Amino acid sequence: MDIDFANLQRQYQEYKDDINFRIQKVLNNSNYILGSEVYDLEKALGDFTGAKYALSCSSGTDSLLLSMLSIDLKPGDEVITSPFTFISTAEAISRLNAKPVFVDIEKDTFNIDSNKIESAITSKTKAIIPVSLFGQPADLNVIELIANKYNLKVIVDGAQSFGSTLNKITDSNLGDLSITSFFPAKPLGCYGDGGAIFTNNVDYFEKIKMLRVHGQNQKYRHKYIGIGGRLDTIQASILLAKIPFFDQELVERSYVAEIYSKSLYKYFSIPVISSDRTSSWAQYTIRTENRDHIKQKLKEKGIPTAIYYPTPLHLQECYKDLRYKIGDFPEAELASKEVLSLPINAFMRNEIEYIVSNLIDLA
Ligand SMILES: *Cc1c(COP(=O)(O)O)cnc(C)c1O
Repeated sequence: MDIDFANLQRQYQEYKDDINFRIQKVLNNSNYILGSEVYDLEKALGDFTGAKYALSCSSGTDSLLLSMLSIDLKPGDEVITSPFTFISTAEAISRLNAKPVFVDIEKDTFNIDSNKIESAITSKTKAIIPVSLFGQPADLNVIELIANKYNLKVIVDGAQSFGSTLNKITDSNLGDLSITSFFPAKPLGCYGDGGAIFTNNVDYFEKIKMLRVHGQNQKYRHKYIGIGGRLDTIQASILLAKIPFFDQELVERSYVAEIYSKSLYKYFSIPVISSDRTSSWAQYTIRTENRDHIKQKLKEKGIPTAIYYPTPLHLQECYKDLRYKIGDFPEAELASKEVLSLPINAFMRNEIEYIVSNLIDLA
Protein backbone atom coordinates (compact mmCIF):
# COMPACT_ATOMS: atom_id res chain seq x y z
CA MET A 1 0.00 0.00 0.00
CA ASP A 2 1.18 3.53 -0.72
CA ILE A 3 -0.61 5.81 1.70
CA ASP A 4 -1.15 9.53 1.22
CA PHE A 5 -0.74 11.53 4.45
CA ALA A 6 -3.38 14.19 3.77
CA ASN A 7 -5.35 12.72 0.85
CA LEU A 8 -5.83 16.12 -0.80
CA GLN A 9 -6.35 14.52 -4.19
CA ARG A 10 -9.14 12.30 -2.90
CA GLN A 11 -10.73 15.33 -1.26
CA TYR A 12 -10.66 17.25 -4.53
CA GLN A 13 -12.24 14.33 -6.40
CA GLU A 14 -15.09 14.28 -3.86
CA TYR A 15 -15.86 17.98 -4.17
CA LYS A 16 -14.73 18.46 -7.75
CA ASP A 17 -18.02 19.65 -9.24
CA ASP A 18 -18.61 22.29 -6.54
CA ILE A 19 -15.03 23.50 -6.59
CA ASN A 20 -14.76 23.68 -10.36
CA PHE A 21 -18.08 25.48 -10.60
CA ARG A 22 -17.05 28.09 -8.04
CA ILE A 23 -13.63 28.67 -9.57
CA GLN A 24 -15.17 28.99 -13.03
CA LYS A 25 -17.54 31.64 -11.69
CA VAL A 26 -14.62 33.70 -10.41
CA LEU A 27 -12.91 33.36 -13.78
CA ASN A 28 -16.08 34.47 -15.56
CA ASN A 29 -16.29 37.58 -13.36
CA SER A 30 -12.51 38.19 -13.29
CA ASN A 31 -12.80 39.88 -9.94
CA TYR A 32 -9.66 38.36 -8.50
CA ILE A 33 -8.95 40.70 -5.59
CA LEU A 34 -11.58 41.15 -2.85
CA GLY A 35 -14.34 39.81 -5.07
CA SER A 36 -17.73 39.07 -3.56
CA GLU A 37 -16.63 35.50 -2.66
CA VAL A 38 -14.21 36.93 -0.10
CA TYR A 39 -17.04 38.66 1.75
CA ASP A 40 -19.33 35.64 1.36
CA LEU A 41 -16.60 33.54 2.91
CA GLU A 42 -16.16 35.92 5.84
CA LYS A 43 -19.89 35.77 6.51
CA ALA A 44 -19.76 31.96 6.43
CA LEU A 45 -16.72 31.91 8.74
CA GLY A 46 -18.47 34.18 11.20
CA ASP A 47 -21.58 31.98 11.15
CA PHE A 48 -19.55 28.83 11.66
CA THR A 49 -17.38 30.09 14.51
CA GLY A 50 -19.78 32.37 16.35
CA ALA A 51 -17.15 35.12 16.30
CA LYS A 52 -18.66 38.51 15.63
CA TYR A 53 -16.02 39.49 13.07
CA ALA A 54 -14.12 37.29 10.66
CA LEU A 55 -11.52 38.64 8.26
CA SER A 56 -9.75 36.50 5.70
CA CYS A 57 -6.13 37.11 4.85
CA SER A 58 -3.16 35.82 2.89
CA SER A 59 -1.92 33.10 5.27
CA GLY A 60 -1.89 31.86 8.83
CA THR A 61 1.45 33.56 9.29
CA ASP A 62 0.08 36.90 8.08
CA SER A 63 -2.98 36.50 10.30
CA LEU A 64 -0.61 36.32 13.28
CA LEU A 65 1.27 39.37 12.07
CA LEU A 66 -1.96 41.32 11.48
CA SER A 67 -3.26 40.39 14.93
CA MET A 68 -0.06 41.56 16.57
CA LEU A 69 -0.11 44.80 14.58
CA SER A 70 -3.69 45.36 15.68
CA ILE A 71 -2.79 45.20 19.40
CA ASP A 72 0.04 47.59 18.64
CA LEU A 73 2.86 45.25 19.60
CA LYS A 74 6.01 47.38 19.91
CA PRO A 75 9.74 46.65 19.76
CA GLY A 76 10.87 45.35 23.13
CA ASP A 77 7.45 44.07 24.18
CA GLU A 78 7.45 40.50 25.42
CA VAL A 79 5.01 37.86 24.23
CA ILE A 80 4.61 34.55 26.01
CA THR A 81 4.17 31.51 23.83
CA SER A 82 4.99 27.83 23.41
CA PRO A 83 8.39 26.59 22.24
CA PHE A 84 6.66 23.54 20.73
CA THR A 85 4.94 24.94 17.67
CA PHE A 86 5.55 25.88 14.06
CA ILE A 87 7.99 28.77 13.64
CA SER A 88 5.28 31.22 12.46
CA THR A 89 3.98 31.77 15.98
CA ALA A 90 7.26 33.17 17.25
CA GLU A 91 8.38 34.53 13.90
CA ALA A 92 5.55 37.05 13.77
CA ILE A 93 6.52 38.29 17.25
CA SER A 94 10.15 38.68 16.22
CA ARG A 95 9.24 40.32 12.88
CA LEU A 96 7.83 43.19 14.92
CA ASN A 97 11.02 43.31 17.00
CA ALA A 98 9.15 42.12 20.03
CA LYS A 99 10.54 39.24 22.06
CA PRO A 100 9.12 35.72 22.29
CA VAL A 101 9.29 34.38 25.84
CA PHE A 102 8.83 30.64 25.87
CA VAL A 103 7.00 28.62 28.51
CA ASP A 104 7.20 24.83 28.60
CA ILE A 105 4.34 22.57 27.52
CA GLU A 106 2.15 19.99 29.24
CA LYS A 107 3.32 16.45 28.60
CA ASP A 108 -0.08 15.03 27.74
CA THR A 109 -1.64 17.76 25.54
CA PHE A 110 1.55 19.29 24.02
CA ASN A 111 0.06 22.73 24.74
CA ILE A 112 1.54 25.55 26.82
CA ASP A 113 1.49 24.73 30.54
CA SER A 114 -0.78 27.39 32.04
CA ASN A 115 0.69 26.76 35.52
CA LYS A 116 4.04 28.04 34.31
CA ILE A 117 2.86 31.22 32.60
CA GLU A 118 2.65 33.56 35.59
CA SER A 119 6.32 33.22 36.49
CA ALA A 120 7.28 34.30 32.95
CA ILE A 121 5.36 37.58 33.14
CA THR A 122 7.39 40.79 33.47
CA SER A 123 6.56 44.48 33.22
CA LYS A 124 7.25 44.20 29.47
CA THR A 125 4.80 41.37 28.82
CA LYS A 126 2.12 42.47 26.41
CA ALA A 127 0.39 39.31 25.24
CA ILE A 128 0.08 35.55 25.51
CA ILE A 129 -0.18 33.43 22.37
CA PRO A 130 -1.41 29.94 23.20
CA VAL A 131 -1.24 27.52 20.28
CA SER A 132 -3.98 24.92 19.81
CA LEU A 133 -1.45 22.28 18.86
CA PHE A 134 -2.55 19.34 16.72
CA GLY A 135 -6.12 20.69 16.87
CA GLN A 136 -6.82 20.96 20.60
CA PRO A 137 -7.28 24.35 22.30
CA ALA A 138 -4.89 25.18 25.13
CA ASP A 139 -6.12 25.78 28.67
CA LEU A 140 -7.86 29.06 27.86
CA ASN A 141 -9.95 28.85 31.05
CA VAL A 142 -6.83 29.60 33.07
CA ILE A 143 -4.94 31.61 30.45
CA GLU A 144 -7.74 34.18 30.15
CA LEU A 145 -7.83 34.60 33.95
CA ILE A 146 -4.09 35.27 34.00
CA ALA A 147 -4.41 37.67 31.07
CA ASN A 148 -7.14 39.61 32.85
CA LYS A 149 -5.15 39.77 36.07
CA TYR A 150 -2.09 41.25 34.34
CA ASN A 151 -3.93 43.14 31.63
CA LEU A 152 -2.47 41.12 28.77
CA LYS A 153 -3.94 40.37 25.35
CA VAL A 154 -4.58 36.81 24.27
CA ILE A 155 -4.13 35.82 20.62
CA VAL A 156 -5.07 32.21 19.97
CA ASP A 157 -2.93 30.54 17.31
CA GLY A 158 -5.62 28.25 15.97
CA ALA A 159 -3.81 27.52 12.69
CA GLN A 160 -4.34 23.80 13.30
CA SER A 161 -7.62 23.86 15.16
CA PHE A 162 -10.39 25.32 13.03
CA GLY A 163 -13.62 23.70 14.23
CA SER A 164 -12.36 22.70 17.68
CA THR A 165 -14.06 23.83 20.90
CA LEU A 166 -13.51 24.64 24.56
CA ASN A 167 -16.63 24.55 26.73
CA LYS A 168 -18.58 24.32 23.45
CA ILE A 169 -17.16 27.64 22.20
CA THR A 170 -15.15 27.41 18.99
CA ASP A 171 -11.45 27.97 19.19
CA SER A 172 -11.90 30.91 16.82
CA ASN A 173 -14.13 32.63 19.35
CA LEU A 174 -11.62 32.54 22.22
CA GLY A 175 -9.08 35.15 23.30
CA ASP A 176 -9.04 38.80 22.22
CA LEU A 177 -8.19 37.60 18.74
CA SER A 178 -7.96 34.14 17.26
CA ILE A 179 -6.37 33.13 13.97
CA THR A 180 -6.46 30.19 11.66
CA SER A 181 -4.67 28.95 8.56
CA PHE A 182 -6.14 27.59 5.35
CA PHE A 183 -2.88 25.99 4.24
CA PRO A 184 -4.01 22.98 2.15
CA ALA A 185 -3.26 20.30 4.75
CA LYS A 186 -4.86 22.13 7.70
CA PRO A 187 -8.32 20.93 8.78
CA LEU A 188 -10.03 23.51 6.57
CA GLY A 189 -7.61 24.07 3.72
CA CYS A 190 -7.74 26.06 0.51
CA TYR A 191 -5.59 25.22 -2.51
CA GLY A 192 -2.82 27.67 -1.84
CA ASP A 193 -2.08 30.04 1.03
CA GLY A 194 -4.81 31.58 3.14
CA GLY A 195 -5.79 32.46 6.68
CA ALA A 196 -8.32 34.27 8.83
CA ILE A 197 -8.58 36.40 11.95
CA PHE A 198 -11.51 36.34 14.33
CA THR A 199 -12.47 38.82 17.02
CA ASN A 200 -15.45 40.21 18.87
CA ASN A 201 -13.77 43.60 19.17
CA VAL A 202 -14.90 46.15 16.57
CA ASP A 203 -11.74 48.24 16.93
CA TYR A 204 -9.45 45.33 16.07
CA PHE A 205 -11.76 44.41 13.23
CA GLU A 206 -11.71 47.90 11.71
CA LYS A 207 -7.97 48.17 12.13
CA ILE A 208 -7.15 44.78 10.60
CA LYS A 209 -9.45 45.51 7.67
CA MET A 210 -7.17 48.46 6.92
CA LEU A 211 -3.91 46.73 7.84
CA ARG A 212 -4.45 43.91 5.35
CA VAL A 213 -4.67 46.45 2.50
CA HIS A 214 -1.56 48.48 3.33
CA GLY A 215 -3.19 50.31 6.19
CA GLN A 216 -5.47 52.26 3.89
CA ASN A 217 -8.78 53.72 5.02
CA GLN A 218 -9.60 55.02 1.57
CA LYS A 219 -7.91 54.34 -1.72
CA TYR A 220 -4.35 55.75 -1.54
CA ARG A 221 -4.91 57.12 1.96
CA HIS A 222 -2.83 55.20 4.49
CA LYS A 223 -3.68 55.47 8.16
CA TYR A 224 -1.34 52.66 9.29
CA ILE A 225 1.79 50.91 8.05
CA GLY A 226 0.16 47.68 6.93
CA ILE A 227 0.91 44.74 4.70
CA GLY A 228 -0.39 43.25 1.44
CA GLY A 229 -2.37 40.59 3.24
CA ARG A 230 -5.57 39.78 1.34
CA LEU A 231 -6.97 36.36 0.57
CA ASP A 232 -7.52 36.09 -3.17
CA THR A 233 -10.96 35.50 -4.60
CA ILE A 234 -10.19 32.08 -6.11
CA GLN A 235 -9.04 30.73 -2.75
CA ALA A 236 -12.15 32.17 -1.11
CA SER A 237 -14.31 30.40 -3.71
CA ILE A 238 -12.60 27.06 -2.98
CA LEU A 239 -13.24 27.50 0.76
CA LEU A 240 -16.88 28.39 0.06
CA ALA A 241 -17.21 25.13 -1.85
CA LYS A 242 -15.64 23.17 1.00
CA ILE A 243 -17.34 24.69 4.07
CA PRO A 244 -20.65 22.82 3.63
CA PHE A 245 -18.72 19.54 4.00
CA PHE A 246 -16.56 20.65 6.89
CA ASP A 247 -18.71 19.43 9.78
CA GLN A 248 -18.76 15.98 8.25
CA GLU A 249 -15.00 16.11 7.74
CA LEU A 250 -14.56 16.83 11.45
CA VAL A 251 -16.71 13.80 12.25
CA GLU A 252 -14.63 11.62 9.94
CA ARG A 253 -11.36 12.85 11.42
CA SER A 254 -12.48 12.18 14.97
CA TYR A 255 -13.65 8.74 13.87
CA VAL A 256 -10.14 7.97 12.59
CA ALA A 257 -8.67 9.27 15.86
CA GLU A 258 -11.02 7.08 17.85
CA ILE A 259 -9.98 3.95 15.97
CA TYR A 260 -6.30 4.79 16.39
CA SER A 261 -6.76 5.37 20.12
CA LYS A 262 -8.75 2.20 20.72
CA SER A 263 -6.24 0.13 18.78
CA LEU A 264 -2.99 1.67 19.97
CA TYR A 265 -3.39 2.66 23.62
CA LYS A 266 -1.86 -0.57 24.91
CA TYR A 267 1.27 -0.07 22.84
CA PHE A 268 1.94 3.64 22.61
CA SER A 269 1.29 6.86 24.45
CA ILE A 270 -1.77 8.24 22.66
CA PRO A 271 -3.07 11.83 22.49
CA VAL A 272 -5.11 13.13 25.42
CA ILE A 273 -8.06 15.46 24.80
CA SER A 274 -9.33 17.29 27.90
CA SER A 275 -12.97 16.58 28.72
CA ASP A 276 -13.98 20.25 28.25
CA ARG A 277 -12.52 20.33 24.71
CA THR A 278 -12.86 18.87 21.26
CA SER A 279 -10.06 18.57 18.75
CA SER A 280 -10.17 19.20 15.02
CA TRP A 281 -7.56 16.43 14.79
CA ALA A 282 -5.19 18.30 12.54
CA GLN A 283 -2.70 15.66 13.64
CA TYR A 284 -2.90 12.37 15.46
CA THR A 285 0.35 12.23 17.36
CA ILE A 286 1.66 9.33 19.39
CA ARG A 287 4.79 9.26 21.53
CA THR A 288 7.40 6.55 21.55
CA GLU A 289 11.03 6.36 22.64
CA ASN A 290 11.67 4.32 19.53
CA ARG A 291 10.38 7.03 17.22
CA ASP A 292 13.02 7.21 14.50
CA HIS A 293 13.18 3.45 14.05
CA ILE A 294 9.39 3.13 13.83
CA LYS A 295 9.17 6.01 11.38
CA GLN A 296 11.70 4.32 9.08
CA LYS A 297 9.99 0.91 9.27
CA LEU A 298 6.59 2.44 8.51
CA LYS A 299 8.06 4.26 5.54
CA GLU A 300 9.28 0.96 4.14
CA LYS A 301 5.66 -0.25 4.32
CA GLY A 302 4.38 2.76 2.40
CA ILE A 303 3.10 4.56 5.51
CA PRO A 304 4.15 8.20 5.67
CA THR A 305 4.46 9.83 9.10
CA ALA A 306 5.58 13.27 10.20
CA ILE A 307 7.51 14.79 13.07
CA TYR A 308 5.93 17.96 14.40
CA TYR A 309 8.36 19.30 15.58
CA PRO A 310 11.90 17.92 15.57
CA THR A 311 13.51 21.02 17.12
CA PRO A 312 11.75 23.21 19.67
CA LEU A 313 11.87 26.91 18.88
CA HIS A 314 14.15 27.90 21.77
CA LEU A 315 16.88 25.73 20.24
CA GLN A 316 16.55 27.08 16.70
CA GLU A 317 19.57 28.84 15.24
CA CYS A 318 17.52 31.94 14.45
CA TYR A 319 16.86 32.31 18.20
CA LYS A 320 20.40 31.88 19.45
CA ASP A 321 20.43 35.53 20.52
CA LEU A 322 17.69 34.75 23.04
CA ARG A 323 20.29 32.59 24.81
CA TYR A 324 18.12 29.65 25.65
CA LYS A 325 19.89 26.34 26.17
CA ILE A 326 19.19 22.62 26.19
CA GLY A 327 17.32 21.77 29.37
CA ASP A 328 15.35 25.03 29.58
CA PHE A 329 12.09 23.38 28.47
CA PRO A 330 12.42 19.67 29.18
CA GLU A 331 8.88 18.70 28.15
CA ALA A 332 9.16 20.40 24.76
CA GLU A 333 12.59 18.87 24.25
CA LEU A 334 11.43 15.37 25.15
CA ALA A 335 8.34 15.71 22.96
CA SER A 336 10.51 16.70 20.00
CA LYS A 337 12.36 13.38 20.37
CA GLU A 338 9.28 11.20 20.85
CA VAL A 339 6.41 12.53 18.74
CA LEU A 340 5.20 10.80 15.61
CA SER A 341 2.16 12.01 13.69
CA LEU A 342 0.19 9.37 11.80
CA PRO A 343 -1.83 9.92 8.63
CA ILE A 344 -5.22 11.43 9.47
CA ASN A 345 -7.82 12.97 7.20
CA ALA A 346 -11.49 12.67 6.34
CA PHE A 347 -10.94 10.36 3.38
CA MET A 348 -9.28 7.28 4.83
CA ARG A 349 -10.65 3.87 3.97
CA ASN A 350 -8.87 0.58 4.54
CA GLU A 351 -5.62 2.44 5.24
CA ILE A 352 -6.42 2.74 8.94
CA GLU A 353 -6.37 -0.99 9.58
CA TYR A 354 -3.14 -1.37 7.62
CA ILE A 355 -1.44 1.42 9.59
CA VAL A 356 -2.63 0.08 12.93
CA SER A 357 -1.51 -3.49 12.29
CA ASN A 358 1.92 -2.37 11.10
CA LEU A 359 2.32 -0.14 14.15
CA ILE A 360 1.38 -2.89 16.56
CA ASP A 361 3.95 -5.17 14.91
CA LEU A 362 6.60 -2.55 15.65
CA ALA A 363 5.58 -1.83 19.23
C1 LIG B 1 0.53 26.21 9.83
C2 LIG B 1 0.76 27.01 11.06
C3 LIG B 1 0.94 28.41 11.02
C4 LIG B 1 1.12 29.16 9.73
O1 LIG B 1 0.14 29.04 8.81
P1 LIG B 1 0.45 29.34 7.26
O2 LIG B 1 -0.89 29.46 6.65
O3 LIG B 1 1.24 28.18 6.76
O4 LIG B 1 1.21 30.60 7.19
C5 LIG B 1 1.03 29.09 12.21
N1 LIG B 1 0.97 28.46 13.39
C6 LIG B 1 0.83 27.12 13.46
C7 LIG B 1 0.74 26.49 14.81
C8 LIG B 1 0.73 26.35 12.31
O5 LIG B 1 0.60 25.03 12.40
